[in-house]
Amino acid sequence: MSHEERVRLMNTAQGRTPADVILAGGQLVNVYSAEILPHVWVAIKGARIAYVGAPDPLLVGKDTEVHELNGRFIAPGFIDGHTHLDSIFQVGAYAEYALAFGNTAAVSEVAMTANAMGVKGVTLGLSANAWIVDDRTKPSLSEGGTCESE
Ligand SMILES: [Zn+2]
Repeated sequence: MSHEERVRLMNTAQGRTPADVILAGGQLVNVYSAEILPHVWVAIKGARIAYVGAPDPLLVGKDTEVHELNGRFIAPGFIDGHTHLDSIFQVGAYAEYALAFGNTAAVSEVAMTANAMGVKGVTLGLSANAWIVDDRTKPSLSEGGTCESE
């Protein structure tokens, strides 16, 4: 993250500049304290979360999109700590299924490709799947995307 982006986020978090998007009125699932915190706002500036907390009118500007969640739950992205993107799952189909249920990261074994091709197999597998991890703006496989790296 650049210095400028950090400053932008801090200015929004402190109410000096409005957010781009507000998710208002959600219930935040705090996975550390096991609490559910009501009436939470999440303020997004650019591609990052700048603020999570009590409603703050200073976060709303004339161009801010406000989405009312009406008590829907907000939770951090979950991590699938053990999967097999090297052999069992097709990455695109896995990503669509996992993202729909809140998984935003996965740790995959690479044993199949490593056993078959060694480091070269692992490297090829990682590069073929990298776009899923790095850029979700590219089309999914069902939308005509591919697993080929650029
Ligand atoms: Zn396994």
